[in-house]
Amino acid sequence: MASTEGVKIHPAVDNGIKQGNASFSGGILTCKCATNPVKVRVGAQTAHNHVCGCTKCWKPEGAIFSQVAVVSRDAIQVVENGDKLQVVNKDAPIQRYACRDCGVHMYGRIENKDHPFYGLDFVHTELSSEDGWSAPEFAAFVSSVIESGVDPSRMDGIRARLRELGLEPYDALSPPLMDAIATHVAKRSGKLAA
Ligand SMILES: [Zn+2]
Ligand SMILES: [Zn+2]
Repeated sequence: MASTEGVKIHPAVDNGIKQGNASFSGGILTCKCATNPVKVRVGAQTAHNHVCGCTKCWKPEGAIFSQVAVVSRDAIQVVENGDKLQVVNKDAPIQRYACRDCGVHMYGRIENKDHPFYGLDFVHTELSSEDGWSAPEFAAFVSSVIESGVDPSRMDGIRARLRELGLEPYDALSPPLMDAIATHVAKRSGKLAA
């Protein structure tokens, strides 16, 4: 088995997974600016929290994975310094609203109503000082960390560490989410009854 010693995934999980609180009902995300930070209120508990190895999600300095969860778009409210937000890539399926000064992504939104995850916004709950957010459950797009420059020889150790943390590694999304996407596609094409 590959050594997991010294393998760092993300600061929110490297010392073990903090369990969520079922009665938690949201909090405030704050960007990294020392002055005039952007603040976004998330008015609900998040779901499907996971670490993600893709190259699009925002990652804290030095981390090879991001940590990202979803919440209903109705629960998101920009409360301070929203004028500093700009969309990272207007052509991407997920419009990621980032602080133009510190670069932190405050929320990601899907505008295409046909997208399987339309209605859900993507958020990084580590930007909140509150405890109780839903705990990360799995690791998505693990092989993609190589695209950000991680040496392929490190992958055994990285996957072993993810399993040690209880974050089953997948090279796409988790099976329930992949099934949800495929179901959406099948209903749209008529292969399954809508
Ligand atoms: Zn900022
Ligand atoms: Zn990602």
